[in-house]
Amino acid sequence: MGSKREIVLYPDRSLAESSAPVTEITDEIRTLVDDMFVTMYEAPGVGLAAPQVGVHLQIVVYDPSPKDEVKDPRVLINPEVTLTGETIVSKGEGCLSVPLEYRADVPRSETIHLKAMGLDGKIFERDIDGFEAIIVQHETDHLKGVLFIDKIGHLRRALYDTKVKKWLKKKQQQ
Ligand code: ZN
Repeated sequence: MGSKREIVLYPDRSLAESSAPVTEITDEIRTLVDDMFVTMYEAPGVGLAAPQVGVHLQIVVYDPSPKDEVKDPRVLINPEVTLTGETIVSKGEGCLSVPLEYRADVPRSETIHLKAMGLDGKIFERDIDGFEAIIVQHETDHLKGVLFIDKIGHLRRALYDTKVKKWLKKKQQQ
């Protein structure tokens, strides 16, 4: 069934590290994927990348239909994303690793071409648009050590970092 793992929070520097490709789908990988789904659904979130639970491997889980009753869990191993569309504004993006429930608008490609491996070891390719394309871009950025707050304006980022510093100070005093 999988168990919940702790989510690594910004400004933890490990979130800025890039992840290594998966070379073999082992039981350990399958357990990690199960755990990532439990962690994501419980948060709740629409996507989670392995480095967010402290594992620097190229694995992403997500569910493009979070509001539906029926779960639609997807796994991407060693994903390769090509941006194929116009730049659009992704409104109010957030991240389970970005504290204080911070949200901001982020430039994203409207469409992408995705190549990845499934948990069955098979490579697949798809063209994706809409909400799913945004999720996949956000989550695969994590594998390169990139957070959505790295893509916002300098002033917004500075204001957010100030808030985070205050929050960390408060936490330490408790
Ligand atoms: Zn994220």
